[in-house]
Amino acid sequence: MSRLLESYAQGAWFTAEDAGTPLASAVDGSEVARISSAGLDVAGMVDHARQVGGPALRALTFHERAALLKQLGLTLMAGKDEFYELSASTGATARDSAVDIDGGIGTVLSYASKARRELPNDSVYLDGAVEQLGKQGTFLGQHIYTPRHGVAVQINAFNFPVWGFLEKLAPAFIAGVPSIIKPASQTAYLTELVFRRIIETGLLPDGSVQLISGSARDLLDHLGGQDSVAFTGSADTAALLRAHPRVVEDGVHFTAEADSLNASILGPDVTPEDPEFELFVKQLVTEMTVKAGQKCTAIRRALVPNGQVDAVIDAASARLAGVVVGNPTSEGVRMGALASVEQRDEVLKSLRGLTKSAQIVFGDPDHVDLVDADHAKGAFLSPILLRADDKTAVEPHEIEAFGPVSTVIGYDDTADVIDLAARGQGSLVASVVTKDAAIAREIVLGLAPYHGRVLVLNSDDAKESTGHGSPLPVLVHGGPGRAGGGEELGGIRGVLHHMQRTAVQGTPDVLTAVGHKWVAGAQRTEGDVHPFRKNLAELQLGDTIVGGPRQVTRADIDHFAEFTGDTFYAHTDPEAAAANPLFGGIVAHGYLVVSLAAGLFVDPAPGPVLANFGVDGLRFLTPVKAEDSLTVTLTAKQITPRQSADYGEVRWDAVVTNQGGDPVATYDVLTLVAKGDDS
Ligand code: NDP
Repeated sequence: MSRLLESYAQGAWFTAEDAGTPLASAVDGSEVARISSAGLDVAGMVDHARQVGGPALRALTFHERAALLKQLGLTLMAGKDEFYELSASTGATARDSAVDIDGGIGTVLSYASKARRELPNDSVYLDGAVEQLGKQGTFLGQHIYTPRHGVAVQINAFNFPVWGFLEKLAPAFIAGVPSIIKPASQTAYLTELVFRRIIETGLLPDGSVQLISGSARDLLDHLGGQDSVAFTGSADTAALLRAHPRVVEDGVHFTAEADSLNASILGPDVTPEDPEFELFVKQLVTEMTVKAGQKCTAIRRALVPNGQVDAVIDAASARLAGVVVGNPTSEGVRMGALASVEQRDEVLKSLRGLTKSAQIVFGDPDHVDLVDADHAKGAFLSPILLRADDKTAVEPHEIEAFGPVSTVIGYDDTADVIDLAARGQGSLVASVVTKDAAIAREIVLGLAPYHGRVLVLNSDDAKESTGHGSPLPVLVHGGPGRAGGGEELGGIRGVLHHMQRTAVQGTPDVLTAVGHKWVAGAQRTEGDVHPFRKNLAELQLGDTIVGGPRQVTRADIDHFAEFTGDTFYAHTDPEAAAANPLFGGIVAHGYLVVSLAAGLFVDPAPGPVLANFGVDGLRFLTPVKAEDSLTVTLTAKQITPRQSADYGEVRWDAVVTNQGGDPVATYDVLTLVAKGDDS
């Protein structure tokens, strides 16, 4: 008998009480493993996540969590060969496995890196600018994000046993929310293996990740308003779970990614002679055959100008004829098996629905020549291309055959193709293949309300294009309406889905303390020691240096103009400058003001300040005229120690004022500062 997959619950591996259900290899029907969650205490898992995992994660900063994820990603990547080996049993070729395995680990690494670059080394994330709520500036508002005190439950589909759970785990982990992972049973043996390796690293805090192998049992019954469920799978299960009493009555955050009739559109400007024509056909065939078409983002509808339907079918059929189907580990095989015989039956059922209004123009549902495989044992299916002459027939726009199946549909013009794409009632992704940017804009804006992602492909970006079917960690993955209404990934957006946004109102000092970011109006400290002489451990928010005043002379302005070559008339030509409605005379260059300000606040001797790496939000507010006097106030605004570096970033609030106290320039100065011994 094969091995019974285990769950990982409350910090320990759990073996089910019964013998479990066999899971068959997609390739030859042999038993790969068995699965069951009989006797698993799912209520205890939820409790463990809330009581142990959540607090452990929340004790870490975003950067500390990111550092753990990075180490985890690198460890998994180094040991990925065994994942590939097992992945073949799911029917996946090496190319398919790369999408799942490397794609999943790559997503973990991408989140680790984004979190380090875009989030503070803290546990609270500030959203947007401070809002001044009273005239005196003593009462302000700031939106903050904090991690929800619940568990992120993920219920995944069979088609991506690795990417599916890692792409949901990474953002939740960065947010500081523990996960309970429930893979689809059919391919859970691969998820269990990768998960086992994760636990073996010992990197992740206890309770931050748990695994259910087998049925979710009564898991949802134990969830509440701080918990979330992210579901990927069939529209029927999504509808069932969406109506669960805990979702409806207790406000469990529920998102789904379900059916999606993704379209690829051949632009009206493209003819068979254009390279874009081949790009369109090649992408269609790729999306039909990668993962044997079992991708939520695969192209189900090829929308092409009426006059190009025959040409597209001919070219696609010629390419499809060259796709070798068979044992995914055999040399030369381009397309492996579907995940199971049951899935093939599902696809054949969908195909029967599609053929009510479309005819098969390539492939035989009952036969395919196979390399090193037996049609009777494995879940193999030929790629199938259909043609729908009635473009408004419902089936091609409504039936998602979750396999290597696409339908070619002709359209009249751009308005028509936008309407046809929208008949999918909300999709994850659409492609537009065109070389005309104006056509691209018209179609993109028409498609956007119905899609989570739109790819515009042409010969200029084809080489670098990541492809129609690849969700990217930095871009939104999800779609409105029928696609489930969920939104995953999208860089830090995906992290924020696990956090609560709260508007905090209070004084500048309170907001500074809450957000660990100095807010204008909060206490400033002008001490004897210049802030540039303090290392990261010594520096405090609010530490301030005031420099100046310094008078700006006409000679300074002339010199700066000559020296830099910036002889714009407002700085050099009194008559023309006088006619300028904003200045009414010669004014100093903005960059001169900023340069003089630096001269007023810099402490020149070698010290803990290592470098100035930029300015943010530079605004020139009041013109500076000759004989004006400048004063600069520089205040430590945000201190971000870098993980595994002996320095950190300091953001300084800079305000330059004139002799009347009017602000002439405001900006943030960004520096790198040594940590010092005790930090
Ligand atoms: P299902 O909806 O049956 O299963 C998806 C996940 O939900 C699995 O982990 C499953 O677990 C779990 N599940 C099922 N019922 C419940 C329940 N009552 N409570 C909690 N969890 C539950 O989809 P499949 O993966 O079987 O795929 C079926 C079809 O869905 C495909 O043929 C395809 O058409 C579509 N699909 C669409 C996707 C998309 O994103 N567009 C992605 C994948 C599938 P278990 O496996 O243990 O039953």
